[in-house]
Amino acid sequence: MAWNRRAFLTATAVGALAAAPSAAADAPRPLPPDVPRPRPPDAPRSTSSRSSPATARAALDALLAGNRRFASGHCRHPHQDGGRRRSPAPGQDPFAVIVGCVDSRVPPELVFDQGLGDLLCIRTAGEVLDEAVLGSVQYGVQELGIPLVLVLGHERCGAVAATLDHLRTGARVPDHLQLLVAEIAPAARRTRAVPGDWAEHAMRAHTAWVRDAIRADPAFAPAHIAAARFDLDTGLVSLLP
Ligand SMILES: [Zn+2]
Repeated sequence: MAWNRRAFLTATAVGALAAAPSAAADAPRPLPPDVPRPRPPDAPRSTSSRSSPATARAALDALLAGNRRFASGHCRHPHQDGGRRRSPAPGQDPFAVIVGCVDSRVPPELVFDQGLGDLLCIRTAGEVLDEAVLGSVQYGVQELGIPLVLVLGHERCGAVAATLDHLRTGARVPDHLQLLVAEIAPAARRTRAVPGDWAEHAMRAHTAWVRDAIRADPAFAPAHIAAARFDLDTGLVSLLP
C-alpha cells in the first residue's frame, strides 16, 4: 500500500510539473510579502522570550546568515546554552522546515548554525519524499505555522550515486533502497545527456523536483518552498533556481 501511495505521489507531482515544463529554468520564486506568518488559532504557542523569524524572508535570511557563520568558522551556537537545555519552552516554535539528506556531513542545525527549537528537520537519504515526510512537513506548516520549507540537497550524495550506478550497470537494487532509487531515477534520466558532472546535475534536478512536488500540494500553500544545495567543500549553501 505504501508503495502504491508513493507511486501515486510521484505520478501526481510529475503531472503537475509537466504542466509547467520550464519550471527548472525559471528564476528562484520571489518570496511572498514580508508579512507575519498565519498561525492557526489552536497551534501551540511558545512562551519563550526569544524572537523567532516570523516571515519566510526573515527565516531564509536567518538560515543563510547562520550558514555564512558556519562556512567561515564563526559559529555562535545559538540556543544551546544550559538554560535553554534545562528549561525548554512548553511549546516549540521552529522557524523553518528543512527537508534534507541523512548524510552525516550535512546536519541542518550545524550547517545553519542554529540551536534547540529552531528548525524542524526531516531527513531521508537523498531527501526522498514519502507520506511520513509529507505528514511531517504538514505538521510544521499547518500546526506550527512555520513560514519556510527548505529542501536541501548536497554534492556527492550517496543516494544519487547509488541511483547512477544502477542506471549505468542495471544491477539489482537491494530491498528498501529500491524506493530511493525509484524516486531519484527520473531526475537522473533527465540529466544523463547533459554535459558535465552527471551526479551534480541529477542532484540539482532531483532537489528541485522535491521542492516542486511540495509546492504543487495545496496542503503547503501557506509556506514558501525553496530548494538549496550544500557544498561539502566550502560549507556554503546556495539557493537553487
Ligand atoms: Zn545525500
